[in-house]
Amino acid sequence: YTGKTGSELLTERLRKLTVQEFQSIPVVVHENVSVYDAICTMFLEDVGTLFVVNEYSHLIGVLSRKDLLRASIGNQDLRTIPVHIIMTRMPNVTLCFKEDLLIEASQKLIEKQIDGLPVVKETEDGYEVVGRLTKTNVTKALVEMGRDERI
Ligand code: ADP
Repeated sequence: YTGKTGSELLTERLRKLTVQEFQSIPVVVHENVSVYDAICTMFLEDVGTLFVVNEYSHLIGVLSRKDLLRASIGNQDLRTIPVHIIMTRMPNVTLCFKEDLLIEASQKLIEKQIDGLPVVKETEDGYEVVGRLTKTNVTKALVEMGRDERI
């Protein structure tokens, strides 16, 4: 018996959780797709954040629901505007790696007041998108920990 309280054990486990255990599949669009097509993709894939990539499949930006709404207000030709015009672009994209602690990635979501982070892998000439970490993933982690009877 370690003499640790339930709360100490819970904290210990919480600090060991990593992004890869909770991440989802990323949805990416090419930088030249139109705002119209990005809106369709967001609905069809049922996600709130799209990641934008270039011809080498490297991350160059992110698109949120509000980015697409903002671009749509008073704009008739959504089919002709490419998403790279309206996205939040690198190096202003907040990202994480699959080995990162879930707590640290969650802190980024709070600090930057955003809904999701791309999970990336570093390559020689850019970042490859391998996952998506959202507030929903973090909520699932919380519920899973609350259900765990080993604690
Ligand atoms: P919504 O706009 O749907 O409320 P967010 O709060 O996630 O969604 O996005 C707010 C703003 O932050 C948007 O302009 C979006 O492009 C940007 N944003 C979203 N995710 C990231 C990220 N991982 N890194 C940097 N900026 C982001």
